[in-house]
Amino acid sequence: MGQHVALRARPAPRRTARGPRVPRAEPAGPHRDGGLALTAPDRESNSALLRAHGLRATAGRVAALGYLATHPHRSATEIHRGVAPELPTLTLQSVHNIVQDLAERGILRRIHPPASNAALYEVADEHAHPHAQCVRCGRLVDLPDAPAPAAGTTPMQSAPGMTIIGVVVTYLGVCAECAS
Ligand SMILES: [Zn+2]
Ligand SMILES: [Zn+2]
Repeated sequence: MGQHVALRARPAPRRTARGPRVPRAEPAGPHRDGGLALTAPDRESNSALLRAHGLRATAGRVAALGYLATHPHRSATEIHRGVAPELPTLTLQSVHNIVQDLAERGILRRIHPPASNAALYEVADEHAHPHAQCVRCGRLVDLPDAPAPAAGTTPMQSAPGMTIIGVVVTYLGVCAECAS
């Protein structure tokens, strides 16, 4: 009977405060990352989110969360660069630790699309949305309305020697800019 539970998609972690909205798409090409410019309410809701997951609201975690809220699908290196103006002493290793901790708690979602060299992170929303990636420039777009198959609803419930607990969907394509 415990098996049924194990086969279900892992439920989204409960939150007391909703994370900031993640923009649905982003421009291609080199990221022009402005400063962090976190407002006080942003800071407060990010701190509350961290504490709701049993984490201390350290400056590094709050900054990384705030950065990803406005710059989704960024690597640890990009996050490090993005928060550097605000936290110049935060090391890249610390950012790696932060994104790993936050991903483990379900606050961040870690994605590793095929046309990206590094794992990318975004603030997790209630339902894991699929992505579409341009295979030429790597531009990654959220597909909020595309139904992401849940683990328990896929035809393949289990693989030999493995219990399926999740599904990650990334559609591959060519963006309009690269196609022209
Ligand atoms: Zn492209
Ligand atoms: Zn996304």
